[in-house]
Amino acid sequence: MRFSFNTQQLCRVFISLPAAGRWRAAQSRLFCSSPSSSDQEKPRASMLRHLTSKIKATGPVTVAEYMREVLTNPVTGYYVKNDMLGPDGDFITSPEISQIFGELIGVWIISEWMGAGQPKQLQLVELGPGRGSLCSDVLRVFSQLRSVFGGATVSVHLVEVSPVLSRLQSQSLTGNSSQEADSEDEPVYRHGETAAGLPVSWYRRLDDVPAGFSIFLAHEFFDALPIHKFQRTVKGWREVMVDIDPEKPDRLRFVMAPSPTPASSTLVQADERRGHVEVCAEGGVIVQQLARRIAADGGAALIADYGHDGTKTDTFRGFKGHQLHDVLSSPGSADLTADVDFSYLRRMAGGGVACLGPVTQRTFLKNMGIDSRLQVLLRNCSDPTTRKQLTGSYDMLTNPAKMGERFHFFSLLHHSRLAKPKKPDGLKLEKKKSPAPLPAAPYWPLSFLVF
Ligand code: SAH
Repeated sequence: MRFSFNTQQLCRVFISLPAAGRWRAAQSRLFCSSPSSSDQEKPRASMLRHLTSKIKATGPVTVAEYMREVLTNPVTGYYVKNDMLGPDGDFITSPEISQIFGELIGVWIISEWMGAGQPKQLQLVELGPGRGSLCSDVLRVFSQLRSVFGGATVSVHLVEVSPVLSRLQSQSLTGNSSQEADSEDEPVYRHGETAAGLPVSWYRRLDDVPAGFSIFLAHEFFDALPIHKFQRTVKGWREVMVDIDPEKPDRLRFVMAPSPTPASSTLVQADERRGHVEVCAEGGVIVQQLARRIAADGGAALIADYGHDGTKTDTFRGFKGHQLHDVLSSPGSADLTADVDFSYLRRMAGGGVACLGPVTQRTFLKNMGIDSRLQVLLRNCSDPTTRKQLTGSYDMLTNPAKMGERFHFFSLLHHSRLAKPKKPDGLKLEKKKSPAPLPAAPYWPLSFLVF
């Protein structure tokens, strides 16, 4: 029989955790209104100047190049310079809305580690950790359930391009006790230790994270990676490029490449039916790396983001101050994002790993026991304001009209995870003769994904 343990049992263990307190009334990137004209009129002069000189020198740039420069240019990039998360920033994410989100992902990680036969080493690897809230909530679960880990060694590895955000992550995970590397060339550019003594290392690239059994998390990471845009024309697929507007030299505009580009010749599928497609080649490469690592060393990856399964067309958009923002206006002052194409990620993962999902955030969280967790927290909380916050954040995360159905969970698993597992030794939770029934799994792959 497949080994499983019960989320509701685990939820009971969390009674001593603080009540979910990060709920904010702010909106996620999905529920923003249109930009105000004043927002549009504040140009980020240095980024615009950099882009216009580049275009003058070498011609129009691809949308992917534009997005990469705007978001992650090492000097003026949006992610490199800003803390964009939260009510005072440009958007808010699920881990910032409620701690329950990260706690349930913590349970998922432990479940995957157990399902893999409790390897002696567990690397928790997060791509794009933002403020470090998700990781911090996961580690609190690890600490509450430390008896489950026995003698296993846990280490934390963060892939983060932003020095500003890496400092915030250090604050949240190590109480600001981390140290920067002496040289910029070091693959680990910052390292520290959590209060519980777990080592934390920061890298700029996934490639630099050491090999070993790992659970990878990527929450709202893939949507920030550069996309190429292609338009079907009577002459075939043409790439959409960014050029200087000839009428207004301090403005940018979209143009169509007159002939095929290397990207339009290689990235569009031969049987593509849509008239316009966005392809995130960088995301494809990262998924290939994840798949290779999982196949070689064991582990799993959980990718959570807004997206579609190869059906949507033009999803490229900007966000600034919780409002939609023109993607070409004031580059560097606003977040740029595009829906994740999970069908592309699945294709890039190849056959070396099992791909499950995408399932909706609502389904994932319900299957992970969010209702039980909410009840436990409400039972232990008498303050009416906190109770209102708890139910409000639950609604934001799970309501189909809010984040419940727009966000999706997609996972890569080692093939052995879906085979009949070996019975783990010495597991305390297993001593229970008749565990409570598992939460219903309305979407069949989730019964594998979760338990
Ligand atoms: N996961 C967090 C933050 C999402 S915002 C949350 O859900 O709250 C995107 C994150 O990815 C930021 O931390 C940003 O700095 C990081 N990021 C963006 N592009 C990156 C890249 N190419 N390499 C590494 N990190 C990147």
